[in-house]
Amino acid sequence: MLNSIRDAVTQILPHKRKTNSSSGWISFNGVCCHHNGESADTRGRGGLVMNPDGGVSYHCFNCNFKASYVPGRHLTYKFRKLLGWLGADEGTVKRLVIDAIRIRELVAPETLLEVEEAEPINFKARPLPAEAQSLHALSNFYTLNNDRDVPKEFHNSVLYLAGRQVDLSKYEFYWTPETQYNLNRRIIIPFTWKNQIIGYTARTFDDTVKPKYHNSHEPNYVFNVDKQYKDAKFVIVVEGPFDAMAVDGVAILGNECHEMQADIIDSLGREVIVVPDADKAGAKLVDKAVEYGWSVSFPVWQETHKDVASAVEEFGKLFVIKSIIEARQSNRLKIELRKKRIYN
Ligand SMILES: [Zn+2]
Repeated sequence: MLNSIRDAVTQILPHKRKTNSSSGWISFNGVCCHHNGESADTRGRGGLVMNPDGGVSYHCFNCNFKASYVPGRHLTYKFRKLLGWLGADEGTVKRLVIDAIRIRELVAPETLLEVEEAEPINFKARPLPAEAQSLHALSNFYTLNNDRDVPKEFHNSVLYLAGRQVDLSKYEFYWTPETQYNLNRRIIIPFTWKNQIIGYTARTFDDTVKPKYHNSHEPNYVFNVDKQYKDAKFVIVVEGPFDAMAVDGVAILGNECHEMQADIIDSLGREVIVVPDADKAGAKLVDKAVEYGWSVSFPVWQETHKDVASAVEEFGKLFVIKSIIEARQSNRLKIELRKKRIYN
């Protein structure tokens, strides 16, 4: 098992190759270059080495593409691309993704920690705006002092959240009173990474206030990773933070899923199920999901509901999660067919 990825790579290496007996590097024409906008390699500048720990490293000196696999880590997007370019079929790549997860469970926990720290993904801490007030602190205050006047904006933000059926015991919110343009009358959802606040999105709860969202965070953030259950078999990937909170999934905050976001999601080490919004823009996310080798779900309620949050408002969380899992599709051709039917 520990060597399954190494063995699979060995089987798909180009026949025309040279092995350096002292360093162990195997060189052949780079398989990456024309995918990266460079002219094809004809001078054997692609190099691959099998590491003693069962890992694999690839480096192309023609286009500078690098990818590696380290036992204990998930199969990164770049490494999966490399496998495809070497000629691995879709089924093999999927099997190896699962093997990598199994191997991760086999390697000792201390190895795991060390390995995970090798390429840490971090987002810089950013404070919440000065106007932000904790919804929970204030609601406790009014529960204890029920004769006080409740600020209108606080009242409205609670009403808004209640209407969206957000689990207030699991998620934390802030609100802003009437204030400067960008933060005027909003619900603030803090963005956390490793339990530190690294930004936020501020959504208006009054539809006359524009724009609907005001965001502050570094690019390529994935929302709600901190709140994923350790032993879950799936991770549901959606577009918006309210959709994510509605089913305890993660949100990519738009319909573009950057490579770094894909790596964050893959690093959770579980089956990824994407639920795109049922609008034209959602088709873009379906394409990305196919590219990353993820499953896509087209649940029954998509005929009448644009997104996960709106479905949960009507049918409740459990039903919606169940319908997402049941309607998931991992076959590329079937996903493409559904996409055409829904988005054209
Ligand atoms: Zn190359």
